[in-house]
Amino acid sequence: MKKKKRYMSIKTFIVLAISIVLTVTLGLCFFGFTYSMKRKQMDDLLASTESRTVRLANDLSFYKMDLSTDDTTISTDIDESAYFNNGRIMVISKNYKILKDTYVLKQNDYIVSKDIMSVMCGYDEKVTRYRGDYAEVIYPIVINDEVSGVIVSTASMQDINQRYGFLYKRIGIMLSIVFILDILLIILISRKAVERIDEINEDIYNTSHGSLHDKLEEKGFQETRYLAQNYNEVLEKLSTIDQTRQEFVSNVSHELKTPITSMKVLAESITENEGAGVEDYKDFMTDIIDEIDRETKIINDLLTLVRTDNSKSVLNIEEVSVNDMLDSIVKTVMPLAKQRSIDVSYESYKDIVAEVDEVKLSLAISNLVENAVKYNIESGWIKVSLNSDNKYFYVKVADSGVGIPEDAKDKVFDRFYRVDKARSRDTGGTGLGLSITRSIINAHGGTIKVYSESGKGTTFTVRIPLKSKLEKVEVKTLEKSTKAEKTDVLIAEEDTKSPAADEEKDA
Ligand code: ADP
Repeated sequence: MKKKKRYMSIKTFIVLAISIVLTVTLGLCFFGFTYSMKRKQMDDLLASTESRTVRLANDLSFYKMDLSTDDTTISTDIDESAYFNNGRIMVISKNYKILKDTYVLKQNDYIVSKDIMSVMCGYDEKVTRYRGDYAEVIYPIVINDEVSGVIVSTASMQDINQRYGFLYKRIGIMLSIVFILDILLIILISRKAVERIDEINEDIYNTSHGSLHDKLEEKGFQETRYLAQNYNEVLEKLSTIDQTRQEFVSNVSHELKTPITSMKVLAESITENEGAGVEDYKDFMTDIIDEIDRETKIINDLLTLVRTDNSKSVLNIEEVSVNDMLDSIVKTVMPLAKQRSIDVSYESYKDIVAEVDEVKLSLAISNLVENAVKYNIESGWIKVSLNSDNKYFYVKVADSGVGIPEDAKDKVFDRFYRVDKARSRDTGGTGLGLSITRSIINAHGGTIKVYSESGKGTTFTVRIPLKSKLEKVEVKTLEKSTKAEKTDVLIAEEDTKSPAADEEKDA
């Protein structure tokens, strides 16, 4: 496969996304859980320290803070309490002198701190907090309704911190192992998930460089099955288009070859006829000119067809009086009809103004009316009528002509299709008229239908929206039509319109 610019692959994306989600969720779960356990133990320790401190404060207030009395166990209680908590207790008098320090270090020193002062002065009822590795409680000693000192009690949290530090480490290691295993698993899973996409990608690449007939296998996950199914449908359409294009090219070559072969035969026969006089030459040259005219008409019709087939924006949409347009079409065809004593009538039920390309639509309807003359019987009739509702206008072209056989009705819109080749040729037909007509009508967002009975006559009904969905963009349209003219030959080569698709559209 050709090397292309590298972008992030679905595999990498899946691995990254799941890893991030896993890390964040697992991390939050484990660390959140253990932290809340640790916090609970810290809160329990603080609460038990507080209740001990309150008891000691009550005892101290009962003994009026006299720690020297031998008949009390208050001093021992304080020591035991500090020992039990693996902490320190200080009893501080009103003048901030440390009366007792279980660490002995600061016994009889003075201590002043914001928290001690706030409790001593009665600003705070008590202070409970965590400080480093310790839980601390500062509680007032109240004697005769007056704060006479404070007791500062700390309890060590080292045990808890050590236990949880160890737990965090263990969880960290465990999570890393789980994480690595997960990544390996995710890589395997993501590989499996996109394996088929990679295969399809390669198949599509090969198809784009090879045959249109190599269909994709519909296997794997639902998405890849759908992808293959849709791709196969596109492939089918492409191969129909390819086939149509080949048919079109071969039809065009055949149609263009016929007049040239006739010209060659005419030219050869006149040159080989040694006794031919000027009159004979004149006759042959007239026939040759007829063939040249025919060839020109085929080429012109082909150009018109590709131009209308290729882009709707080639239309030059304007507000047009459809009554006037039909009037002029009927008038133009009248002399031709008179030659064969065909009666042409035109009936319009109301004045209709529609947003259409007048030139192109005139060509489309003219084709229908001209056909009605060409494929009519001597002294027959043609009825053209116009009507509308609030969305569409309808043109009906009915004739009393030869009609179209049932099996040919679907094909008359195909390029180069003619029911009776000889008759069409005699009347100067190229077999492209109805294709052009349908193409123009479709470009207007309209539809055309044919009703016919062999030997009785034919009716074509055309339905076109009154308001065009295309913008009236004259400037752009002009630009595009010039471009279209320049690329006519190219477009003719690339024309891929499928008659079958057209039929579907119509339906
Ligand atoms: P052509 O140049 O041969 O007229 P068209 O595309 O206009 O080509 O028409 C295709 C074929 O459809 C004609 O050859 C003719 O056999 C048939 N057809 C078209 N219009 C009529 C009609 N009004 N009555 C009978 N046959 C028609």
